Amino acid sequence: MNIHDKKFALLGNNLAIDFINTQVIQNGELVDMLGVPADINHWAQQVGYTLTSDVTINDLATVKILREGLKTLVLAAIEGTNPSKDELVILNYYLEEHRTHQQLEINPETGELRLAVNNNKAHLSSLLANVAYEGAQLLASSQVSYVKSCSNPECVLLFLDTSRTKRRRWCSMDTCGNRAKVARHYRKETQ
Ligand SMILES: [Zn+2]
Repeated sequence: MNIHDKKFALLGNNLAIDFINTQVIQNGELVDMLGVPADINHWAQQVGYTLTSDVTINDLATVKILREGLKTLVLAAIEGTNPSKDELVILNYYLEEHRTHQQLEINPETGELRLAVNNNKAHLSSLLANVAYEGAQLLASSQVSYVKSCSNPECVLLFLDTSRTKRRRWCSMDTCGNRAKVARHYRKETQ
């Protein structure tokens, strides 16, 4: 597969969750979509963020440490366990040391104000700061109780359920939701 064809799952309704979702199950195996440094540039692009410089192999390792830290905290929240202070260290480092470079701007379509990252300052560190910030905001809010993992036991994708009824079960209706529907239908037919 050409690297530019790589399509990331952006269904989490939160930047930090989409970042965690860069690990997926394919053919029964856990696959890391961030396999090479350029994958980070590509992920950044798909979340609307054009990085001003290339990502190095060292950056890739750093990125994975943040992802692992976030994942641990989000999974703890889903399972209802309390995190330890040690687990907050990585996230707090980003909150403390990195700037999000967000600015208020006027949305040209609606005329309303919105927060957006200053594109001239789109360094990897500010992308990661934004990932950490969105994750921290979610973890510290009541919304965290609506973070779910996909109901397909063979899928590891997470999402923030923003539906009105809060009954979303699948990462996507096109994939896992549809598979479950087909399986249900097949069971009915054969009974
Ligand atoms: Zn799924």
